[in-house]
Amino acid sequence: MDILWILWSIPAVIAVEEMLMDSTTATAELGWTVYPVSGSSDNSWEEVSGYDEHMNTIRTYQVCNVFDSNQNNWVRTKYIRRRGAQRIHVEMKFSVRDCSSIPNVPGSCKETFNLYYYESDSDTATRTSPAWMENPWIKVDTIAADESFSQVDLGGRVMKINTEVRSFGPVSKNGFYLAFQDYGGCMSLIAVRVFYRKCPRIITNGALFQETLSGAESTSLVAARGVCIPNAEEVDVPIKLYCNGDGEWMVPIGRCMCKAGNEAVENGTVCRACPSGFFKPTQGDESCMQCPINSRTTSEGAINCICRNGYYRTDSDPLQMPCTTVPSAPQTVISSVNETSVMLEWMPPRDSGGREDVVYNIICKSCGGGRGGCTRCGDNVQFLPRQLGLTKSRVYISDLLAHTQYTFEVQAVNGVSDQSPYSPQYASVNITTNQAAPSTVSIMHQVSRTVDSITLSWSQPDQPNGVILDYELQYYEKDQSEYNSTTIRSQTNTAVIRGLKSGSIYVFQVRARTVAGFGRYSGKLYFQTMTEEEYNTSIQEKLPLIIGSAAAGLVFLIALVVIIIVCNRRGFDRGDSEYTDKLQHYTSGHMSPGMKIYIDPFTYEDPNEAVREFAKEIDISCVKIEQVIGAGEFGEVCSGNLKLPGKREMFVAIKTLKSGYTEKQRRDFLSEASIMGQFDHPNVIHLEGVVTKSSPVMIITEFMENGSLDTFLRQNDGQFTVIQLVGMLRGIASGMKYLADMNYVHRDLAARNILVNSNLVCKVSDFGLSRFLEDDTSDPTYTSALGGKIPIRWTAPEAIQYRKFTSASDVWSYGIVMWEVMSYGERPYWDMTNQDVINAIEQDYRLPPPMDCPNALHQLMLDCWQKDRNNRPKFSQIVNNLDKMIRNPNTLKAMTPLSSGVHLPLLDRSIPDFSTFSTVDEWLDAIKMGQYKENFANSDFSTFDVVSQMTMDDILRIGVTLAGHQKKILNSVQMMRAQMNQIQSVEV
Ligand code: AMP
Repeated sequence: MDILWILWSIPAVIAVEEMLMDSTTATAELGWTVYPVSGSSDNSWEEVSGYDEHMNTIRTYQVCNVFDSNQNNWVRTKYIRRRGAQRIHVEMKFSVRDCSSIPNVPGSCKETFNLYYYESDSDTATRTSPAWMENPWIKVDTIAADESFSQVDLGGRVMKINTEVRSFGPVSKNGFYLAFQDYGGCMSLIAVRVFYRKCPRIITNGALFQETLSGAESTSLVAARGVCIPNAEEVDVPIKLYCNGDGEWMVPIGRCMCKAGNEAVENGTVCRACPSGFFKPTQGDESCMQCPINSRTTSEGAINCICRNGYYRTDSDPLQMPCTTVPSAPQTVISSVNETSVMLEWMPPRDSGGREDVVYNIICKSCGGGRGGCTRCGDNVQFLPRQLGLTKSRVYISDLLAHTQYTFEVQAVNGVSDQSPYSPQYASVNITTNQAAPSTVSIMHQVSRTVDSITLSWSQPDQPNGVILDYELQYYEKDQSEYNSTTIRSQTNTAVIRGLKSGSIYVFQVRARTVAGFGRYSGKLYFQTMTEEEYNTSIQEKLPLIIGSAAAGLVFLIALVVIIIVCNRRGFDRGDSEYTDKLQHYTSGHMSPGMKIYIDPFTYEDPNEAVREFAKEIDISCVKIEQVIGAGEFGEVCSGNLKLPGKREMFVAIKTLKSGYTEKQRRDFLSEASIMGQFDHPNVIHLEGVVTKSSPVMIITEFMENGSLDTFLRQNDGQFTVIQLVGMLRGIASGMKYLADMNYVHRDLAARNILVNSNLVCKVSDFGLSRFLEDDTSDPTYTSALGGKIPIRWTAPEAIQYRKFTSASDVWSYGIVMWEVMSYGERPYWDMTNQDVINAIEQDYRLPPPMDCPNALHQLMLDCWQKDRNNRPKFSQIVNNLDKMIRNPNTLKAMTPLSSGVHLPLLDRSIPDFSTFSTVDEWLDAIKMGQYKENFANSDFSTFDVVSQMTMDDILRIGVTLAGHQKKILNSVQMMRAQMNQIQSVEV
């Protein structure tokens, strides 16, 4: 890696000079050694006292032998200790007499002298040693004067003084001597100073460098390592300075900077903690900054300022930015409803919390018309551009349910909302959607075709927006004009279009109708009838197949084929299916071409064959299990995703067969799939397929978001309008009509076996047969009876007594489902024992109308509970009947005053007979509502006569606020009324 050497500037610092010897500070004689010795030659160096330019006394050496040739005069200093220096500097102050100014001077006159040094570890020099000559002495230089003087001042006080500095090195012994050699000059050595140089202790670039001796050569650089000053940290390493031979720092490398929370002061020599109220987030040269608005520090040296209570910062907010808070609520939400859509617009919040990232979330709650509160809207509601994180203050919401009250909360949130402990502030708006026509039918396909007919089926619109009353199918021959089209109505999502020309292409379109009118037509689809040739070939191909697969008997088969052919040819109309058993139905002749008949998988010799025929095998790699949602007969029920090649991923329910199963259990488990796989109706649970080639074995069906109907109703007690409840019942009846038409008898129709999706569409499910088997005793709902187990409370008397299970007995069960729905999942016959139920039914007792149940609906229930099964309505009649109610909601207004008519309502045995009590208080105690005695008494409800006339309004008015108590009291009052009626009719 390349090292980046960064050169930083250093302040100019004067080198430190460390004095080793200074002749000017001598207070007594210098006493240097002179050669030749004084006296032996008159004119060698001589120590003389004098004055310097400041008139301080100084000791000097003088010599002036200009008229004698061959001069060699030495003067040697005392021993000078080196004290660690490697290079020695000598500063000499001297004056020299100009030779030319001396009259008659010989040519040998000199104006220079020589400087020498001699190293020695101790002061051992004598008068004769070292010898007075170059080598042993080492010559430093010949010193010449810059200025010589030619005239002597008479006072002798004005002198021209030269200053010369010379240095030498390296020196390594403990000390040394200096010597000055004169060879024929006239001069005065005024001052000699001997010193070495050091680079001083310095703080520069955030680092401290200790005093460092300069190197031995004038050019040498001595590296010194720096140490960061307190609260500074290295930025570039190494941190170095070089000390040159002159004691100057140079070539700075690397640097330190004050740490976060500290700033450089005093010319960068100190890193000081930021004072309180200030912060510095990073290391660097910059100064501490003042805390931004709504923030503070808790101590000195802060690297950031913390937000005051109620103020926050996001991870990406710069620390210099003021702390911010959550926005206030949006203002003035305006809604404009259009059928089942609504446009919401609002004004931004008054206070954005100091931020610019305010966005909006929409919370959608649908509020049932009933007594309950609001629930979150399902996933089907569409938000444009989106539901959460809206940047503009408007949203378009569609696919709402028609005729439904919604509350929308528009939340304002910003980048710090999720840090606040409080939920976002919002503005809300209540709206009620209008009625709307159903959405378009999107999928239509051909079920079968003959030479003169085509059977089509289509899916229910995604948004029915109410109960679908019927469908209108429009068709015309492709070559003809659309104006010649024919329309037909169908109450189900299938239709047989007859009277068509053979081998012709027809154009079809379908639309759904609710009380709100027709939806839009679907796109045009083309289907072709068979040609005569095609028809004949197909019959020939089908015959052996039909003969091979059916196991119900040859006679039946021939009859069936004959009927199909006859019906196809003659175009017979199909009437309502007969509520008789299978054989009667098959031979009745009421079959239409292309109509499918349910085939019991157990009539197959190999039931696996039935699975292969009716259920699609799915590869396990297409299935992703997500979570367990329930327990089924044979194993866990899970939710998950199914992604079939070329299809969109869909949410599914997955029933699994637990490991360790017997072959029989596997067969029973899969029989449900072989049954379900034969059905295709919007109100019957749809089979996606089975996984049998890997373990665990699975049955995969469409996912029903709201689970089973009984639990769903209990969880949403009182939250639906009567129309919504009737819509659900209509769906169930329609699914049952389809099953009955297919000749399928369910035997276990009950709210627990109906599944509900997010659009409140109810679908008949649970086609398993195992729970009827004798050996399973785990579920008390199913009571053992001769030849299998029976869900007593839901089952018609003839089915209990002699196992006469027919579509008519399914109608009885349907009546019980109606009662379950209208009572929001109450248990039929409450806590009566099964035997009591059987006895009560035998004595013509029937369930009373649930609270708030319209008369017409209870009447329909009673019809379903006719003792003679032939008097019960058919499912098609039930569907028609419910459709009429939906179209004329007024018929649902009348509520039941309990009558003592033919169908005497079943008396609720969980409610005590009022006539056994003498006061209203006793009666209240008995129904466990004793706490309302005062409320009753204060409002003069103190006799049974008055109490028996109480309405819900009265109960509310006297101060019963809990829904459960209101219900209990109202039921008991109704019961009291019924008991009174009974007594009267007996008396009459
Ligand atoms: P079953 O064995 O059919 O009675 O299913 C047991 C439970 O699993 C039911 O009561 C439902 O709560 C749940 N369940 C079964 N099928 C589905 C489905 N298609 N969608 C959602 N939940 C289901």
